[in-house]
Amino acid sequence: MPGGGAVEDRKSLAALPSVDRLLRDPACQPLIASVGRALTTDAVRQVVDDARAALAGGAGDAVPATETLLGRARERAEALMVPSLRPVFNLTGTVIHTNLGRAPLPEEAVAAIAAVASRPANLEYDLGAGRRGDRDAHLEAWVCRLTGAEAATVVNNNAAAVLLVLNSLAQRREAIVSRGELIEIGGSFRLPDIMKRAGTRLVEVGTTNRTHARDYREAIGRGTALILRAHTSNYEVQGFTAAVPDPVLAGIASEAELPYVVDLGSGTLVDLERFGLPHEPTVRETLEQGADLVTFSGDKLLGGPQAGVIAGRGDLIGKIKANPMRRALRIDKLTTAALEAVLRLYADPDRLADRIPVLRFLTRDPAEIEAVAHRLVPLLKAALEGVVTVSAEACRSQIGSGAMPVEAVESMALVLRPAGPRKRAGAAAKKLAEAFRALPVPVIGRVADNALHLDLRCLEDEAEFIAQLDRLPFAGTDAR
Ligand SMILES: *Cc1c(COP(=O)(O)O)cnc(C)c1O
Repeated sequence: MPGGGAVEDRKSLAALPSVDRLLRDPACQPLIASVGRALTTDAVRQVVDDARAALAGGAGDAVPATETLLGRARERAEALMVPSLRPVFNLTGTVIHTNLGRAPLPEEAVAAIAAVASRPANLEYDLGAGRRGDRDAHLEAWVCRLTGAEAATVVNNNAAAVLLVLNSLAQRREAIVSRGELIEIGGSFRLPDIMKRAGTRLVEVGTTNRTHARDYREAIGRGTALILRAHTSNYEVQGFTAAVPDPVLAGIASEAELPYVVDLGSGTLVDLERFGLPHEPTVRETLEQGADLVTFSGDKLLGGPQAGVIAGRGDLIGKIKANPMRRALRIDKLTTAALEAVLRLYADPDRLADRIPVLRFLTRDPAEIEAVAHRLVPLLKAALEGVVTVSAEACRSQIGSGAMPVEAVESMALVLRPAGPRKRAGAAAKKLAEAFRALPVPVIGRVADNALHLDLRCLEDEAEFIAQLDRLPFAGTDAR
């Protein structure tokens, strides 16, 4: 670099306003009022540092004007204040989507959360006796009423429920599980790993596709603590298969005086057939067929908040409640409020399909979804004129989160196919998906066959969806 340049750079550096001067500038005061002095100072310092680095780099940049620097600082500070966790449109076609927060709560649950969120509540306080109570008190009677269980307790999620059951009843002992049920869910819940952490030795019986009653009988020994069955909720073993029915397995366990535990995964409290959906074993049925304990999630088919419920025999629940680990896995007052409100809705099964969003989505009339599609097609065509072709196509929605792996319900999707050369269609479809995700309320669809598919089953707020269409970056231009 020629020597004269270095002198120029030093002059430019000296001309760069100081952080203090920028903070005192009247144009900076609105930002301080909006995001606070600490964040503004950080942002201004960053911007000044960046400008200094650019000048020292000798690229010959001019010293930025004060208003330019403050503009950059504002952008930085405001970007930091945009909430990271935000609502999105789930148009993926998977109704209970773990990555998208699973079950949206019914309004009754939202109101129940709001009622206790900012105030003290009798979470662990017995109002009648005027002394310490049990947080399960708000939920246990409802779970028992709705499932026929003798007793119940609730923890943070179903993985925690399984961990707590195993650690309470089978620490340093063995649990017998069929090889066909050694499940992994969402990459993070792997039954063998949970068992290890619970201190339980896994005894696998049978083969991947076939397990017989004698396999269980032969595996029972002095170290056996319980027999566990896990609902194979995200896959199905088909073909030459054999599994031992619940009543038989329950009989084998009871002969050996062992608890029979069933991890149901998606806890269903009502027979889904009443809504025209495929049958899914309910918690009540599973207990009636001889399970001593059943574990299930609160935010799958139940349609409530993230939680794990353990329901069943009173003496076993008593042991579980006495485990100090329960304290580390317990739910807070917000979840308690939401779950209680959802369980109360189950008191009236006739109105569930309207009131619980998960069930409302799953039972949505295909004609209604089709009507949504026909209303939206012309609007999308107008917004994306010349960029994509838009059509409404029949598709199948998945229930998701492990429930009913192979069943799917008829639905309708908007299919947005980028116009232009086929060669670049895949990249163009991805770009289109990106643009929808960048909207103020991100729209999450599914890219397949070089097109963006938006399954409309879970789209209820059409007005909000439509209102953002004109913010798509390429209305009237070329997507690529
Ligand atoms: C979903 C599921 C789990 C994990 O439940 P979380 O509530 O996500 O912790 C465990 N077992 C089965 C069978 C499941 O389907």
